[in-house]
Amino acid sequence: MNKPKQDSTESTLGYRSFFPYFRFLKPYWLPFIGALLCGLIYGISSGFGLPFMVDQVFPRIFPDQAPGTPTLSNFELLYLIAWFPAVFLIRGTSGYFNGYLINYCGLRVLEKIRLQVFSKVQILPVSFFQKNQEGDLLSRITSDTAQLQSALLGISNDLVRQPVTFVGALVALVIMAIQREGMSFILLCLAVIPVCVFPIRRVGELLMRRALGMQEKVGSMTSVLSENLSAYREVRAFSLESREEQRFIQSSEEFLQARMKVVKYSHILTPLIEILTAVGISFAIFQASKSSVRLDAVVPVITALYIAYDPIKKLGAINNKIKEALASLQRLNEVLHAKEMIEPRESPLEMPVVINKIKFKSVCFTYEPEQGESIVSPALHQLDFEIKAGESVALVGPSGAGKSTLINMLCRFQDPTSGEILINGNDIREFAIKDLRESISLVSQNPFLFDISVQENIEIGKSKYTTHSIKEAAQASNSMEFIEEFPMKFGEKLGEKATRVSGGQLQRLALARAFYRNSPILILDEATSALDSDNEEKIQEAMKVLIKGKTTIMIAHRFSSVRLADRILVLDRGKIIANGKHDRIYETCQTYRKLYDQQLAT
Ligand code: ADP
Repeated sequence: MNKPKQDSTESTLGYRSFFPYFRFLKPYWLPFIGALLCGLIYGISSGFGLPFMVDQVFPRIFPDQAPGTPTLSNFELLYLIAWFPAVFLIRGTSGYFNGYLINYCGLRVLEKIRLQVFSKVQILPVSFFQKNQEGDLLSRITSDTAQLQSALLGISNDLVRQPVTFVGALVALVIMAIQREGMSFILLCLAVIPVCVFPIRRVGELLMRRALGMQEKVGSMTSVLSENLSAYREVRAFSLESREEQRFIQSSEEFLQARMKVVKYSHILTPLIEILTAVGISFAIFQASKSSVRLDAVVPVITALYIAYDPIKKLGAINNKIKEALASLQRLNEVLHAKEMIEPRESPLEMPVVINKIKFKSVCFTYEPEQGESIVSPALHQLDFEIKAGESVALVGPSGAGKSTLINMLCRFQDPTSGEILINGNDIREFAIKDLRESISLVSQNPFLFDISVQENIEIGKSKYTTHSIKEAAQASNSMEFIEEFPMKFGEKLGEKATRVSGGQLQRLALARAFYRNSPILILDEATSALDSDNEEKIQEAMKVLIKGKTTIMIAHRFSSVRLADRILVLDRGKIIANGKHDRIYETCQTYRKLYDQQLAT
């Protein structure tokens, strides 16, 4: 499945896109103001202080450069020389605190953005994950936020102090031009500055497009990586090592190419501006030599000019960083603004404690077409059936019949395209989604155990219906015997992806979790993987205990489980083709008979 690709050449974001995120700065206004003040001091001390010092102090230290200046005493000399470290001390200290404080604010803002994306990902509908590759999402949350972070840091270091430095140097230049005769030409040298704006703008635009392309490639590369890491068994079992290597080489190469395009533009600006400023400075030197101005008058001017050009270079680099960050922000915004299909009710109905009836009424569901697909046939078509309180129904049907889709509807992972699902006569959309889901215990086909202890993994199931202890849940699910064998018993950590338990144990722990949850509705999506007879028997026993008194829907792959159910619904191509007890539908439904006989034969 591919995520819908954004047109990487078109980018819609401008600087304003950053504005909404400024609200995150609110709690940090004090360090932010401090940072601004430090930036101001830094800018003034470098832009104005340095050239002014060169202008005022030099001629007094070297009196022969300025005739008529009286000879200095040692004390006076020391006092004048002390100006140098003093100005650099002010510049250095304010620069440090400016950088420190603004980084602090920037990182805090970034933390909030990352959290916002993460929180949004928690509430996005299931369809979002079906459309977007896991790796691409991972890269948005990690790489794009890191890109934003690097930009924020760059911006925060320079956005305040460089403009102030520039203005300071400009003021120094203007003062000097007015004070000194024949020096008004230096103002002409400043004409280079507006010329610099054109390459800054153009390079920024080009860079943003390239950066968007690059981040997409990071996403693809992470997808290949995450797929490979999840499928480590398949890779070995089917000897896919070299195929996987090729896939990774290709995506890595594509990333490299995209990255180089970014490098091309991000590094072109500095030399370009340096060349332009060198032209400006050469012009100043040329004019100075022609008008035979003294060296001591030229040095402060050249210093001020250099200091005035430097921020232009740095601002150009910031502009590049902002553009790169905008590309990442665009990718983050795609997640932040993704539609939450499941709209929460404003005043939901209270979830009934006792479930009397679940009713599917003309339920249809069609998946959104993938890119390039025009027509998609419905996954569920006009489903009409009822399940009574305490009844257990087995869903049987060939692969692709719509069994999982039906379950998704009941859990409201997706809403029907048309029709409704009623619990005790009320559309399930009338209930708060959290309450509805709490009333369901779902045991999925591939249960997920977190990298926490056995106890905590069962405890995750806790709901308002929970009445039994964790130990009782473990006993009921036949998990006790293997938990007892763990060195840490219930405190045993299960390892990432529960690699430390067998397939059968994993399923029993999932049943323990459902047992502990004790919700009135039970959904069992039976695992397709083969189990040894001991495990199979233990799981069957556990299921028998679990479904007692619960309104149960089970996707049954093994006919031994079908026997546990009161009734069987046979689904084929999104439609119910049979509904009843085993004996009768074995006689009347050919699809069912075929499935049953096939399994008996294996
Ligand atoms: P079952 O659980 O019985 O194997 P599913 O409910 O998974 O069947 O699938 C029913 C139909 O919907 C199939 O034709 C399948 O290809 C399609 N389908 C399932 N999931 C998606 C999806 N995320 N996007 C598009 N089509 C899907």
